[in-house]
Amino acid sequence: MTNKDLFNQVAARLETYQPQMIDLQRELISRNAVGPDHSGPGEGEKAAFLTALLQSWGLQVDNYPAPDDRVAGGERPNLVALVPGKRPEKVWVLSHLDVVPPGDLTLWHSDPYTLKVEGDRLYGRGAEDDHQGIVTSLMAVKAILDQGITPPRTLALALVSDEETGNEKGLAYLLREHPHLFAPEDLIIVPDAGSVDSTLIDVAEKSILWLRLELVGKQCHASRPELGRNTLRAAAHVIVALEELARQFSLENPLFRPPVSTFEPTKKEANVPNINTIPGRDILYLDCRVLPEYELAQVQERVLALGKEAARRFEVKLKVEPVQELPSAPATPVEAPVVQALMRAIREVYGREAKPQGIGGGTVAAFFRQRGLPAAVWMTVSRTAHQPNEFCLLSNLLGDARVLAHVFLEKE
Ligand SMILES: [Zn+2]
Repeated sequence: MTNKDLFNQVAARLETYQPQMIDLQRELISRNAVGPDHSGPGEGEKAAFLTALLQSWGLQVDNYPAPDDRVAGGERPNLVALVPGKRPEKVWVLSHLDVVPPGDLTLWHSDPYTLKVEGDRLYGRGAEDDHQGIVTSLMAVKAILDQGITPPRTLALALVSDEETGNEKGLAYLLREHPHLFAPEDLIIVPDAGSVDSTLIDVAEKSILWLRLELVGKQCHASRPELGRNTLRAAAHVIVALEELARQFSLENPLFRPPVSTFEPTKKEANVPNINTIPGRDILYLDCRVLPEYELAQVQERVLALGKEAARRFEVKLKVEPVQELPSAPATPVEAPVVQALMRAIREVYGREAKPQGIGGGTVAAFFRQRGLPAAVWMTVSRTAHQPNEFCLLSNLLGDARVLAHVFLEKE
């Protein structure tokens, strides 16, 4: 039988799995897996359910738990289930177990922890982020098992904790404590971000630099400005002066969306409590997403120089400190087998040409890329992650499961 015939059989079988996809969403949504950083119970219950499910399919499930006193049982689960292939190289699909809290319940039209089905939409906390990744990868594996196919590569499902709150108890822990699990010749897919038309494959990230700018002047009564040094007025001029950053770091890289570095003033701390006082201290923040072509130290230096020049005119002192400094990991090459295999699968299943791109936000794939493991982030999103009334589309669960199955069955 040709590869194409095998894929067509698996794709047809997946069509009949739609009721199982809904049932799996129902089970996952009903198990609150908010992490302890957000005062939740952690991923234990969801992991226990998935372990039993995968074992009932005849799979061995290994747990690599990260110690964490804040949750019942004292550990955060990180599950790995393998389907042995003809070759030892693996196709990994890494999804995360944890979800963000539902937030303001009055904004939800239904209970966030009870699945609601409405046409093609499946509502509930985690339905998209990241149950979609869990359901599509598990169903693709099950269809291959049920067809009695031994896949060319070994299939590897990773179900990790702590993606929403820093990955220290999840993928970062796995890569640090169990680095032998992953190899550079593996294909690593992270179904946790993408576009609504299925065409965005995320292969790179910008560097992230968060800066805290503290201005110190002199507080006084607002009726006698000549006695003080107004830090809010100085801050306004500093913000305008920093517009110059976009001109000084103006390189464009078409891999990224947007293709330029961005420098956005964001948070501003409260200063004086009353209107008739001139503030003598102001603190504001700058969120910089910088193309990998630039060093973050250069950017910080320019912020200080431009800011100081503006503040000096008001006799206000400026201090600049980094809050977060994350130099970007090397990009996953567009020619990497995982990217090429995804592009072929998306063409076959969705009939569209996928575009490998870089994004401004950090994803868990950066931890793989830092270690020279080529990872690609891809799924078909509904753009409702972290929002009230989060949903995913059943049609996307079917389509994305077929894309993963196509990658699983490729021989090269
Ligand atoms: Zn996610």
